[in-house]
Amino acid sequence: MAWSDILGQERVIELLKTHLQDERVAHAYLFAGPDGVGKRRLAFEMAKALNCTGAGNRPCDACTVCRQIARGTHPDVHSVVAGGASDQIKIDMIRHVIGRVALRPYSAAFQVAILEGAERLTEEAANSLLKVLEEPSAHTRFILTTAQFSACLPTIVSRCQLIRCRPLPADVVKQILITQKGCDEPTATAIASLSGGSASEALALADRWSTYDQWVSLLGSDAPPAWFERPLPESREGVAQLLDGMMRWLRDLAVTATSETAYIAHAGHAVALRRQVRGMDLDRCLDTVFELVALRDSLEQFVSPRLVAAVAREKWLNLIGK
Ligand SMILES: [Zn+2]
Repeated sequence: MAWSDILGQERVIELLKTHLQDERVAHAYLFAGPDGVGKRRLAFEMAKALNCTGAGNRPCDACTVCRQIARGTHPDVHSVVAGGASDQIKIDMIRHVIGRVALRPYSAAFQVAILEGAERLTEEAANSLLKVLEEPSAHTRFILTTAQFSACLPTIVSRCQLIRCRPLPADVVKQILITQKGCDEPTATAIASLSGGSASEALALADRWSTYDQWVSLLGSDAPPAWFERPLPESREGVAQLLDGMMRWLRDLAVTATSETAYIAHAGHAVALRRQVRGMDLDRCLDTVFELVALRDSLEQFVSPRLVAAVAREKWLNLIGK
């Protein structure tokens, strides 16, 4: 992988390259942006660029250091990812990485610690990290990433150089879908417009596209029997997909009501959206969004997926007045 393999983040890459060239690399960066826009890849590419021993452009992708970092086996590059049942970065994880970066680099110029999911640092872990961020050593660099910037502790944010990673342009997502999933052009266009600029979201949607598309046709239908002819999904994933589809559809109904049709994500269903929005109470539409968000949360709390799906269908039929 090279800088040029990270699509859609050219502005960020130019900025980081400037920092490297001018030897103004910050002691700590915070890469903030939605999931699936390349934050992790940018972090590892930066770790390579900082330590590359190649003669030309950094990273060269050919030297031992670059190859070891790409394989995740370099002893001076440490990766911490939120995990466990609580999905947090806990103090023992931070203590471990701080212990490692306190040592002189084994073979690279810098010890680099990459912390993915900065919003998931426990308070104790954040306090422990703060001490190191306040007194950084010359041979250590921290790169934090987050998809929920507003949930990051201000004390951590204030000690990092913030780099905003924007959602990917639809054309870039489309290209990724065509190259990596072999999608045809219309399908890639449809999925890209639903992905919110996230490559990971788009790739996941491509894997279950046929089911998603069938649900969407049902959402646009005003015939309640169809809702009872089709079995509801039973898996947590399947129900989550249905709820996400419902929420995206409601967003599109709101957009259709404003006549800003260029922003409709389900562009292929514009006729059904226009028909459905006529006579629809948009306040109830909004209430339904909140109810669906609560149902989506309850799905994470191990409530029966079947029950969640049945309640969601009930709310949907109520909304469309059936
Ligand atoms: Zn290299």
